[in-house]
Amino acid sequence: NKPILEVEHLKKHFNIRKNQTLKAVDGVSFSIQKGEMFGLVGESGCGKSTLGRTVLRLYDQTAGTVRYNGENVHQADAKTKKQLDRRMQMIFQDPYASLNPRSMVVDIIAEGMDIHHLYQGKERLRRVHELLEIVGLNKEHANRYPHEFSGGQRQRIGIARALALEPEFIVADEPISALDVSIQAQVVNLLQKLQKEKGLTFLFIAHDLSMVRHISDRIGVMYLGKLVEITTSEQLYQNPLHPYTKALLSAIPIPDPDLEDKRESIILRGEIPSPISPPSGCVFRTRCPQVMEQCSYSEPQIREYETGHFAACHLYERNHTLQGVQESAAT
Ligand code: SF4
Ligand code: MG
Repeated sequence: NKPILEVEHLKKHFNIRKNQTLKAVDGVSFSIQKGEMFGLVGESGCGKSTLGRTVLRLYDQTAGTVRYNGENVHQADAKTKKQLDRRMQMIFQDPYASLNPRSMVVDIIAEGMDIHHLYQGKERLRRVHELLEIVGLNKEHANRYPHEFSGGQRQRIGIARALALEPEFIVADEPISALDVSIQAQVVNLLQKLQKEKGLTFLFIAHDLSMVRHISDRIGVMYLGKLVEITTSEQLYQNPLHPYTKALLSAIPIPDPDLEDKRESIILRGEIPSPISPPSGCVFRTRCPQVMEQCSYSEPQIREYETGHFAACHLYERNHTLQGVQESAAT
């Protein structure tokens, strides 16, 4: 089963001033299987949107590679890039800002089709009507303007626009965080339905675990430009390894009484440091409740500690190997 998306050692740095570099994404590796919902979680400013945008080629990468079906997206020729643009789409965080207020819904949704010269005239309108129906709106909405819709409806329009070119892979960048709580579930349900019915693959970006944990097959936890833990939603919840993941989980109310006493509340001190001057060694060390001496000079590499369960933390390096077998003292 080959992954649809393979990201290797990806870096996206921004030069902001003379001699100052913002390391938004700083050496990230992961892959996503076809049809998978991969949740990407972290506090705002940790680089998750930049990662999503770099994967979609909205940004050039600074280093590393992004492969989509084996094709290096940043190195591809113009023709392949155009095909990739159809296959890979984005749903934006803010349904207010991402729709042109002067365009009618029909033209917003058909924008990609127009760029790719896909449908004209009646066919174009028929396709827009079909897309409106798929996202739970109707034909009559085609000739209206964005301001006539609620936040949830606007996000549905954004989703219809993303679906117009029949993509296989969608980056959804906090698609519900700007919406009223009462309609968040509806939009999430719609995305899940699309994942199942159309076999879509998602990179679903969110700032809190409570939401993605229920919908994601696997989750990547990001902190200050790095992925610090990757595993299935279930593993992440049952057996989190990284101290940062443990802190994020401790903030979620627990419905399961068996887990109640096992999980104490962890309050992280301080703020997320600036990605312009990240800490040496482990980027999490300034806030880590379990920080050790070596964390200040040695950067932990992301390693597989159980099958499919990756973490970047010195706490596990000595005592654990894959499958939890103890390393012999001789090694
Ligand atoms: Fe904490 Fe050290 Fe692990 Fe980083 S490497 S998470 S500072 S224990
Ligand atoms: Mg963001």
